[in-house]
Amino acid sequence: MADIIQLLPDHVANQIAAGEVVQRPSSVVKELLENAIDAEATTIKLIIKDAGKTLVQVIDNGKGMSTTDARLSFERHATSKIRTADDLFQLHTKGFRGEALASIAAIAHVELKTKQEHDDVGNAIIIEGSSIVSQDIVVTPKGTSISVKNLFFNIPARRNFLKSNAVELRHIIDEFHRVALAHPNISLSFFNNGSDVFNLSMGNYRQRIVSIFGNKTNEKLVPVEETTEVLKISGFVGKPEFSKKTRGEQYFFVNDRFIKSGYLNHAISSAFDGLLKNGLHPSYFLYLTVNPQTIDINIHPTKTEIKFDDEHTLYALLRSAVKHSLGQFNIAPVLDFER
Ligand code: ADP
Ligand code: MG
Repeated sequence: MADIIQLLPDHVANQIAAGEVVQRPSSVVKELLENAIDAEATTIKLIIKDAGKTLVQVIDNGKGMSTTDARLSFERHATSKIRTADDLFQLHTKGFRGEALASIAAIAHVELKTKQEHDDVGNAIIIEGSSIVSQDIVVTPKGTSISVKNLFFNIPARRNFLKSNAVELRHIIDEFHRVALAHPNISLSFFNNGSDVFNLSMGNYRQRIVSIFGNKTNEKLVPVEETTEVLKISGFVGKPEFSKKTRGEQYFFVNDRFIKSGYLNHAISSAFDGLLKNGLHPSYFLYLTVNPQTIDINIHPTKTEIKFDDEHTLYALLRSAVKHSLGQFNIAPVLDFER
């Protein structure tokens, strides 16, 4: 009988992986910003055109890449961040799967410029649909610039599936907010079609929140602080009178990573029991620090979900920390005078 199984060529495998990693322009924004953070950049600039459909560019002043690494960075499962499977539970970086750049390069036109601090010159690489078009020596500042053009140029179905520029821009802004709120110690700027959307200087968490959401936010923030053997909670909840009808400003970070957790979000909301009128949602910016050994981030390629060893304890601790803060700041139930 004839054999029918074949190994897929790399460019096909990369395109398949890209389906999971890159849903829309904002996914590219997330991956590139996270790489810049992992490269220890202190200043990061995000430039987009047409809501990222024609261009997403991230320029950082981080550690840059060597000539060989610049080329290798586009290979699938090529990473400088882990060496063994055990390292997955010691993570101090956003990335570890080594597939973002490979995926992005499979479905876009990518230009990389990168230079390490002590090198005189850097490298420029152009790569389209997984194949390297050119690699040249260039004069470029320390750090890395990656431009991603014409996303999904070779997958018309995905390109057509993209939403209006307004919707795609919204997704990008959401992603930018998440990264910006997790890293107030990094200067971040954001340009859309040539005009600046954000220009955030380094500061503390409160300053970062206020610089994103406006000066009025400052008086709304109630600090939350709690340290136990298993975790540290810090951040802010919004005073109940500033709660909203939409679940807008709800940010929950674990070890500097924005995380979606319906269960833990419920812990926070339930701490507001009796303080909010029906149908209103609290705002919060809460930062959890836990031992990396007690979480598993490798659940999904986008890494916005985590498996916790002991979710029930976290739930109770979060709820009581938020309740405690609301109580300490004399926040009383909203009286309903309308009755
Ligand atoms: P991962 O982040 O999971 O390692 P990526 O595909 O995102 O995988 O990146 C591959 C590798 O390329 C990284 O491990 C890193 O060594 C290098 N790299 C990517 N972006 C940058 C950057 N902005 N600065 C320095 N090195 C980078
Ligand atoms: Mg990465």
